[in-house]
Amino acid sequence: MLRRSSVPLKTPDEIDAMAEAGRLSAKALRKVGEAVKPGVSTAELDEIAETLIREEGGIPAFKGYGGFPGTICASINDEIVHGIPSKQRILQEGDIISIDTGAIVDGWVGDNAWTYGVGTIDSNWEKLLATTEESLWAGIAAAQSGNRLGDIGHAVQKVAERAGYGVVREYAGHGIGRVMHEEPTVRNYGRPHTGLVLQPGMVIAIEPMVTMGTYRTVLQPDGWLVCTRDGLPSAHFEKTVAITDSGVRVLTEEPDYPRPL
Ligand code: MG
Repeated sequence: MLRRSSVPLKTPDEIDAMAEAGRLSAKALRKVGEAVKPGVSTAELDEIAETLIREEGGIPAFKGYGGFPGTICASINDEIVHGIPSKQRILQEGDIISIDTGAIVDGWVGDNAWTYGVGTIDSNWEKLLATTEESLWAGIAAAQSGNRLGDIGHAVQKVAERAGYGVVREYAGHGIGRVMHEEPTVRNYGRPHTGLVLQPGMVIAIEPMVTMGTYRTVLQPDGWLVCTRDGLPSAHFEKTVAITDSGVRVLTEEPDYPRPL
């Protein structure tokens, strides 16, 4: 059956405009990452991101989105995503913290995430971070015109599961543009050669959430924070990318800092 796609396509000029939102989102993420150390509260990290985004003429994309109170999501150890920043939440040596943040510039949204170690972390946790990052890059490499959504999910899943990790099912990446969440849903698991055909002009956020144990999640009573069901740690890496005629283009990137750290 033929079905008309409801995925909004962006023109090359619009993709250039989205790269500005992406650049500021990436800068905010990097600045927060540079401030991660033992003794810092997640509220302090939130303020760093909000101040920077506003100073550079952007709007924090998360603040007020669905009622979310922060500029960043700060999720520590077994927390997977959507942690609300708090003065009471102090980073400890050996923690890992997933920071998710985004900026709106000229009406376009950028969205990105990275998991950082706090001081020195356990080597098994290092491996979880490295593998989750690798799964993100595998997903990005699969985001080519003519491929399908299932190719992205499969690429992410293969890297994570080969290392013995879980891939979160209940949360996924997404299309992004003038609003943060558009069609399509970009799952982190799937079968090759299945799903929507990718085409130039699609802009999506790819964001593997990878767990050391079970991929099952628990939503906490605040209605936001999502944790692993078994209490084992989780990592989250995300970039906003555009599918173009000449390949995939990472939009949440600073020209001088191709990697957040
Ligand atoms: Mg996202």
